[in-house]
Amino acid sequence: MTNKFRLRKYHFSMFVENTLKQGERRGCIEVICGSMFSGKTEELIRRLKRARIAKLNVEIFKPEVDSRYDESDVVSHDSNAIHSTAVPNSGAILLLADQVDVVGIDEVQFFDDELVNVCNSLANRGIRVICAGLDMDYSGKPFGVMPKLMAVAEFVTKVHAICVDCGHIANHSFRMVADEKLVMLGETDTYQALCRDCFRKKNRSKG
Ligand SMILES: [Zn+2]
Repeated sequence: MTNKFRLRKYHFSMFVENTLKQGERRGCIEVICGSMFSGKTEELIRRLKRARIAKLNVEIFKPEVDSRYDESDVVSHDSNAIHSTAVPNSGAILLLADQVDVVGIDEVQFFDDELVNVCNSLANRGIRVICAGLDMDYSGKPFGVMPKLMAVAEFVTKVHAICVDCGHIANHSFRMVADEKLVMLGETDTYQALCRDCFRKKNRSKG
């Protein structure tokens, strides 16, 4: 076999938690993004629970705007809840995240742009910061602070929903009701997960 056709060895490394127990403490930013019903919060909770098993000090924050379900719990759609603190702005996280090893932040798309500096400051202190949120709004545009946060993060994981119309991988959150408000929380009666093609088709028929 010539050099030209020699198979290259690729090393795929699975996402492995930095347990912070071995050697020096290193901070980092992880972003979990995707559409509605993609399992972002479930993935955030999974990582935070594993950090707890590792006996790490975990704090979870979310914006006050998200008052679905319970005021003080990060709740995913499958009711796999974990306690959290609702904060009025990103600056509050910096003040409250004291003596912690891991900070989880849910619904990050609703935070102000200062969240990027907040996450960087936490990570620079040696804290593992795990953020979860919508990467696109209902019109398919990058959502708020999310793209900036993805740019500075060490790890970005995009999770997908399943298109309710065709069964393909879905990356869009289609709003079924006519409302121009960007911040609109809801469930299956308000949003649908759709793939690129079905999202375009439905938006065209909406006019
Ligand atoms: Zn589809």
